[in-house]
Amino acid sequence: MTRIPDILLSNGQTIPQFGFGVFQIPPADTAQAVTSALQAGYRHIDTAEGYGNEKEVGEGISGAGLDRADVFVTSKLDNASHRPDDARRAFDRTLGALGSDYVDLFLIHWPLPTKYDGDYVSTWQTLEEFYRDGRARSIGVSNFQPHHLRRLHEECEVPPAVNQIEIHPYFTQPEVRGFCGQHQIAVEAWAPLAQGAVIGDPTIDEIAGRVGKTPAQVVLRWHIERGDIVFPKSATPDRIRENIDIFDFELSGEDVEAITALDRGKRNGPDPDTFDLGAP
Ligand code: NAD
Repeated sequence: MTRIPDILLSNGQTIPQFGFGVFQIPPADTAQAVTSALQAGYRHIDTAEGYGNEKEVGEGISGAGLDRADVFVTSKLDNASHRPDDARRAFDRTLGALGSDYVDLFLIHWPLPTKYDGDYVSTWQTLEEFYRDGRARSIGVSNFQPHHLRRLHEECEVPPAVNQIEIHPYFTQPEVRGFCGQHQIAVEAWAPLAQGAVIGDPTIDEIAGRVGKTPAQVVLRWHIERGDIVFPKSATPDRIRENIDIFDFELSGEDVEAITALDRGKRNGPDPDTFDLGAP
């Protein structure tokens, strides 16, 4: 079985550095995809209420014949549910859909600074309740910029254990990663393959040919070497197996730097300072 490294979080919990993302996997295909991933050795699933497939994630875990305790499960608070009472109801819904009495990690999906009168602090304080009562083993944020994190740091008690942000070779996020590194916030890289856009890049192709791995494997290994947590998405069993097969080789420091130098400073996804989709 592949040995996946654990990352130690600031609250003493650990998270597998590599996992499986289920964004845009249709609910009808999710249980099978999750079961395939677990059979291939994945032990960490990243979902969200907004993906509409939490129930099928729970089914995929039981379908693989694994105990709930064997799998690290992350979910996220929907953009429509930031007000504290709505967040409490949303968290109950998430646990009910997953068929579990806890999540390993629960995140605020987006900061939504243009909504809710700019108040993501009371939302975070509500997640602190879930952490204190043990139903969220760890809590964190997603798509938070340093100025959003600074507010939590100044106004809240429990620091976020992770920040899940867009990171790939075309958008390497030095500023947010630097801030998180200084504040013991583990970094999770979403869209690690730039949703497929980095496949076919000549620099990555050259490295892949030289080290005898596929371009996707080289990019995922680059994330691992940088110390970020990563959970590529695929619904194709061959790719699911290909993506986890990255723990039998290393990239040289020069290759890591060459991939980092591909940064174009341009996001694939939305800007967290203006994104408000799904918020009332
Ligand atoms: P990704 O970078 O993982 O790309 C997935 C796509 O890459 C696939 O649809 C496929 O087209 C391609 N691909 C996958 N494996 C491949 C392979 N071996 N060879 C060639 N092409 C391959 O993008 P993603 O799904 O957006 O991100 C991963 C996970 O991150 C999501 O599933 C989700 O869990 C999370 N995410 C979080 C947020 C957020 O706002 N927090 C946003 C987007 C994604």
